[in-house]
Amino acid sequence: MTARRFPTARRSLNAVAQEAKGCQRCPLYRFATQTVFGEGPAHAPVMLVGEVPGDQEDLQGRPFVGPAGRILDRALADAGINRERVYVTNAVKHFKFEPRGKRRLHKKPNAGEIAACKWWLDQELDLVKPALTVALGATAARALAGRALPIGASRGHLLELRDGLPGLVTIHPSFLLRMPDPQVKEQEYRRFVADLRLIARHVPAAKRAA
Ligand code: SF4
Repeated sequence: MTARRFPTARRSLNAVAQEAKGCQRCPLYRFATQTVFGEGPAHAPVMLVGEVPGDQEDLQGRPFVGPAGRILDRALADAGINRERVYVTNAVKHFKFEPRGKRRLHKKPNAGEIAACKWWLDQELDLVKPALTVALGATAARALAGRALPIGASRGHLLELRDGLPGLVTIHPSFLLRMPDPQVKEQEYRRFVADLRLIARHVPAAKRAA
């Protein structure tokens, strides 16, 4: 992950985000409302990477503003992380869905779409240069590690993602939304918060002021 891969002079996140608005590197641009680029401080110490924008993110053009984003915000607060110090993005920048009546049901991006959109994720990593990158779910883990990583065995400890990138792996918050049993859901939420607490342990700059 070096600057040499993207030699354009005076690049900035804003410039890359503008460029991504016209991306046609995979077919997903045809059906979504807009490209949903990452957002957060230009040199955030931590980058969180999700899977793909959801319905609300697609309409608003911002990552993690829907129901999963609300869980993430709450979990970050419970883990003592300052949300303002974190850059959030997705492995794939266009909403992938299946129309079902008036609803649009989320679909998982495939390996080709993840690989095509890595072009943008690499540039975000290259520009932000986070001290720690957190994969939220299997799609992000695959994009960041370049191979499938089992979430259960990978979570809870620091690991090396692709190109020596220090990272953590945990669940995607939408996993919690799909859990029908409130007790199990609460247990899984606590595990998620425990995973996020590792961020502050490894990157004290991400902590909230006490
Ligand atoms: S999903 Fe990514 S690669 Fe595909 S068109 Fe959108 S921005 Fe481009």
